[in-house]
Parts: sequence; C-alpha cells; structure tokens
Amino acid sequence: MLVDSHCHLDRLDLGAYGGSLDAALDAARARGVGHFLCIGVSTDNAAVVRTLAERHADVDCSVGVHPLDVEPDAVPALDWLLGELAHPRVVAIGETGLDYHYQPESAALQQQAFRLHLEAARQTGKPLIVHTRAARADTLELLREAALPQAGVLHCFTEDWEMARAALDLGFYISLSGIVTFRNAESLREVARRVPADRLLVETDAPWLAPVPHRGKPNLPQYVREVAEFLAELRGIPFETLAEQTTGNFRCLFPLARVGR
Ligand SMILES: [Zn+2]
Ligand SMILES: [Zn+2]
Repeated sequence: MLVDSHCHLDRLDLGAYGGSLDAALDAARARGVGHFLCIGVSTDNAAVVRTLAERHADVDCSVGVHPLDVEPDAVPALDWLLGELAHPRVVAIGETGLDYHYQPESAALQQQAFRLHLEAARQTGKPLIVHTRAARADTLELLREAALPQAGVLHCFTEDWEMARAALDLGFYISLSGIVTFRNAESLREVARRVPADRLLVETDAPWLAPVPHRGKPNLPQYVREVAEFLAELRGIPFETLAEQTTGNFRCLFPLARVGR
C-alpha cells in the first residue's frame, strides 16, 4: 500500500473524472494508494480540507498557511492555529515555511508566519510540514532555533544533498514528488539515492508537478504510484519494499493519521 503524503484534494483538476473527487480517489485506491494527506494552505481552505477528512476514512488533513498565501493583513493568529489543531482529523501543521523564489519581497512576513507555526508545533506536539524554496539558510536557521522535539518533513524536496543532510540531522523526513522523475533533476536523484530508508516519504503535491510520463498534465493522487515506482528502481529495491518503507515512515511521522493495513 502507498500513501500520498501531500496532496491538495480541494484543488484537483477533475476533468478526467467528470468533476468527481470520489472517482479520482477510487482510481488512486485501485492503484494501491490507501491513504491521502490533504494539505491546508490558508485560513480559507482549513474548513474545506477538514470536511474532506471527515467525509473520507482514508483522508486526513493538516492546517496551515502556505508561505505564498501569507498576506500582510492576514498573518494567522496563534489562537486560530491552535483551535484548528485541536480537531482530531487535523494530524499535522502546514504547509508552512519559506519561499523566496516566488516572493522574495515578503520574506519578513513569511518568517513571522513560519515562527507562528513552529510555536503551534511546539505547543501541540503535532508534526510539521515544511515548504522551502530558495530559502535554505533561513529555513534551517528557524528550524534549529525552534528545536522541536517532534519530527517533521521537508515536502516536495528539490534541494541538494547538503540541505537534505542538514534536515536529516534535525530529525526531519524528506518527501519526494514527481520532480524526481524530471529529465533535468539529476542532483535531486542523487539525494533520492542517499536518503536513509527510514526517512523517505512519497507525495504527488497534486494538482501540480505530475511525474513523467504525465508531466505537464494535471497531477492526481494516483500518480504517487509513478513516483514510488521510479524511486524503487532508482534505489535498486522492489516496488513492494519501497511502498512498505514509505508507508511505515508515514505512520511514524503522522501517528494520528488513520492509515489502514
Ligand atoms: Zn509546498
Ligand atoms: Zn503543497
């Protein structure tokens, strides 16, 4: 069984399924995807992802404000985060983090919001889902400063081995998406070969970044299978072993998730 450890079910392009999320999830289930972690990105979509998690036994959700969704007049309040995190289907915090690639001008605001999520993580003990792009030094510095006792994940990892090793040293997991299948992603494949078997997760980040051979088309949770098959071959292990390892890692990192057997 596979887990899509990071997807945006409320944003999927469901054209291929006549607009039916249930049909898209069924297609994923038929390909061995047994659990989905649906990610919160804003105060607006928190209720939406929670409703999805309440409606489907194999969906859990997180709550957070994406660094690119942080608005000057709408930095989330700690009380709001803690209130959302009290819900039993909210098994993680995020996505949060820093993205200086798309919005370098909002760096200070992103850091403020990231610190708030770190504080909520400290108070609740729930695992942290971190988005980082072109912000390596600051991301690591804030994570070190927070020194959380629990683990977290750098999701949709696109950095090099040096960054991966620093994150692993902090007790973090590394989650790989379809980007690892892209032709120009050789340095990421180097990371993918070296991440320890007990720290690796797989995700789609759907609806974005569909893996080869679906690159350029809308991404769907079922394509986590292509990511996992690619990684198994890259790491020279059977697909079943890779699936077992990454699903076991998901269970360890997100103990509140209702992952079936
Ligand atoms: Zn992200
Ligand atoms: Zn995401």
